[in-house]
Amino acid sequence: MIEVDAVIIGGGIVGASAALFLSKAGRRVALLERDFCGSHSSGVNYGGVRRQGRPLSQLPLSQRAHDIWVQLPQLIGIDGEYQRSGHLKLARSLNDLHALQDYAASSRGFGLDLQVLERAELRARFPWVGEVAVGASFCPDDGHANPRLVSPAFALAARRHGAQVHEQCAVTAVEHDGQRFRVSTQNGLELQAPWLLNCAGAWAGSLAEQFGEGVPMHAGHPAMLVTEPLPLVMNASTGVEGGGIYARQVARGNCVLGGGQGFALDGARARPGQHAVIEILRQAVELYPFLEGAQAIRTWSGTEGYLPDRQPVIGHSGTQPGLLHAFGFAGAGFQIGPAVGQALTEIICSGAAKTSLDAFSITRFHSISVA
Ligand SMILES: Cc1cc2nc3c(=O)[nH]c(=O)nc-3n(C[C@H](O)[C@H](O)[C@H](O)COP(=O)(O)OP(=O)(O)OC[C@H]3O[C@@H](n4cnc5c(N)ncnc54)[C@H](O)[C@@H]3O)c2cc1C
Repeated sequence: MIEVDAVIIGGGIVGASAALFLSKAGRRVALLERDFCGSHSSGVNYGGVRRQGRPLSQLPLSQRAHDIWVQLPQLIGIDGEYQRSGHLKLARSLNDLHALQDYAASSRGFGLDLQVLERAELRARFPWVGEVAVGASFCPDDGHANPRLVSPAFALAARRHGAQVHEQCAVTAVEHDGQRFRVSTQNGLELQAPWLLNCAGAWAGSLAEQFGEGVPMHAGHPAMLVTEPLPLVMNASTGVEGGGIYARQVARGNCVLGGGQGFALDGARARPGQHAVIEILRQAVELYPFLEGAQAIRTWSGTEGYLPDRQPVIGHSGTQPGLLHAFGFAGAGFQIGPAVGQALTEIICSGAAKTSLDAFSITRFHSISVA
């Protein structure tokens, strides 16, 4: 029987960052990952590290994450190709530009320093953007990073700080004996701990349900592709107001693009699908004309949990003391993940998170019956 202070289910960026911050705080931690740390959403996402466009309720936590991202080398030993390139959100219509202006006004005071650009200024500052954009909102300190490097590095750093990290170790049973959780894994580990962190991403709903608080979460599969290396053109990560595609260019020249939804092959694997890929390519040439004729060299997708209000669940279980949930990040958990791990650590070490998590309580679903 392995005795620790906290068992964490799920080695994505949320679980691994919780493991890292808890270990740094001197807590004994076991991080249990069914596959490999960072092999799901956290390692295959688009790599957008942006605050712009988030609901206002997420901005305090997102701002904390913003401060953590700049410390990656000290924290996890690599910079993860993180760069504060800026995030440019494009408007295709005047209505969309008004929506960007409204967001800039309502998010003032959260430190985003948004600059709303009319057509002429957009052309002058970002000449590689297509004529289809009538304006944009620019967040100078948002950016992007390489998820394949960053997310596994959180788990490795946690291990260096003393966490037990068990990969290929699916949790098969969880019980609470009145004092502690007892956790069993497929490969025969038995663990016990007073704290259990449910950081199981799109698969977290079954544990919540076991403790009587099912959530109406569904899985989504954003479609992604990457081009061959191209001359460096894009000096900002981009998105489009009202949805559509998003794109960034890495230092080696490859452009990473995403948009639309793919499909699940099975419970754990997803594919982008032909329709979504063709739609990304069609929109890409309109929005970024320099991409015309570029070769896409790889496509992929991942599996992420979405709740109906597109807000995550973060914080105490409403039914089981000692159980903390953190899941349902709706395609935007890579940026905020490290701050979530830090907030969960504060709950365990000091009784409460320094940033309010009220908006993300699982109790908002307690009265909703899950189909
Ligand atoms: C294609 C794509 C693009 C995205 N783009 C962005 C972006 O640009 N910016 C952004 O901020 N966010 C983005 N996201 C969202 C972001 O990747 C996720 O919100 C974030 O990675 C969620 O992290 P997580 O740790 O909660 O989940 P995950 O990374 O999914 O980790 C959960 C882990 O739990 C494990 N697990 C599940 N059940 C068990 C079990 N029983 N036992 C042991 N382990 C278990 C799984 O194997 C998995 O590794 C994107 C997501 C996808 C899929």
